[in-house]
Amino acid sequence: MAQRYRGRFAPSPTGPLHLGSLVTALASWLDARAHGGDWLVRVEDIDYPRCVRGADDDILRTLAALGLHPDEPPVWQSRRETRYADALHHLDAAGHLYPCGCSRREIADSLIHVRERHQTLGYPGTCRNGLHGKLPRAWRVRVPDGAAATICFNDRWQGRQCQNLETELGDFVLRRADGLWAYQLAVVVDDAQQGITHIVRGADLLDSTPRQIHLQHLLGLPTPSYLHVPVVVNAVGEKLSKQSGAQALDTAAPLQALRQAGAHLGIVNGEDAVDTWLAAATGQWKEKLAASS
Ligand code: GLU
Repeated sequence: MAQRYRGRFAPSPTGPLHLGSLVTALASWLDARAHGGDWLVRVEDIDYPRCVRGADDDILRTLAALGLHPDEPPVWQSRRETRYADALHHLDAAGHLYPCGCSRREIADSLIHVRERHQTLGYPGTCRNGLHGKLPRAWRVRVPDGAAATICFNDRWQGRQCQNLETELGDFVLRRADGLWAYQLAVVVDDAQQGITHIVRGADLLDSTPRQIHLQHLLGLPTPSYLHVPVVVNAVGEKLSKQSGAQALDTAAPLQALRQAGAHLGIVNGEDAVDTWLAAATGQWKEKLAASS
C-alpha cells in the first residue's frame, strides 16, 4: 500500500507572513489536500539571532485567517534540539564528521587561492585531516568524492536537478561555531521524524536539497518527493523577504491575499469566499497534477 501523504509548511519566524511565504504555504497546503493527505506546520526557530519574538504566533494566526489549518498541532524546532544532538552523535560515531577550526576569514582567503586553480567553490577541506593546532569551532560532515559526489533528484516542478557536493560545495557545517544547529541537519531529522513524504517549498532551497539527500543517506532515512515553487521577487528581482522589504499580508482581506498567492501558482478562480476559493483551488491543483503525470 502506498504511504499516506504527509506534507508540511516550515516557516522561520523572522517576521510576519508575506506574499512570498504565503505562496509556499498555499502550494504545500494545496498539494496535501489534492492528495487527500495531511498538512503540518513546523516553526523553524533555531536560528535564534534571526528570530523575532511573537512572529511565530503571528504566522500561525495569519494562516488560520486564510483558512489554512494544520491537521496536527504545530511543532517548534527549539523544543526538539536533543533530536539534532542524537543525529550528530550518530554521524560522528560512524566517522562522517570532523571538527573544524577555520574562521570565515580563513575560508574566504583559501577560497580565493583555490578558485585561482579552478578547483572547488566551497569549503576546501582544510580541517579534514586534523585541526592543525586550531581550536574546534564547528562540526562538518564529509561529502562523498568522485562519482558519488553528484546527487540528483527529480523535482516535480523544476525537473531533474543535479549538484556535485564535492566541487560545488565541499564538506558542510551541521553544528555552527556559535553552537547553533544548522538548518540542513534539523530539517532532515524533523522531516523524517514527522513522516513527511512530500516537501513543497520555495525554489531558493533547490540547492539545499542535495545536501539534505546526502544526510538522509548517511542517517538511513527515506528521501521524500520534492516540489520547489518559483520564488516571488520584488520589482528589482530580489526574493521577497523581510530583508528585501516584503510587506506583511493584510489579514483583513484574506481572499485578496489568497488570490494574489494563487495567481503566482497559476491558480485563478472566481470564488468569492475563503472556503469556496480554497476548494476550487484544490480542484485546479488536482487538474494540474493530472495534466503533468
Ligand atoms: N524554514 C525555511 C525557510 O523559511 C524553510 C525550510 C524548508 O521548507 O525546508 O526558508
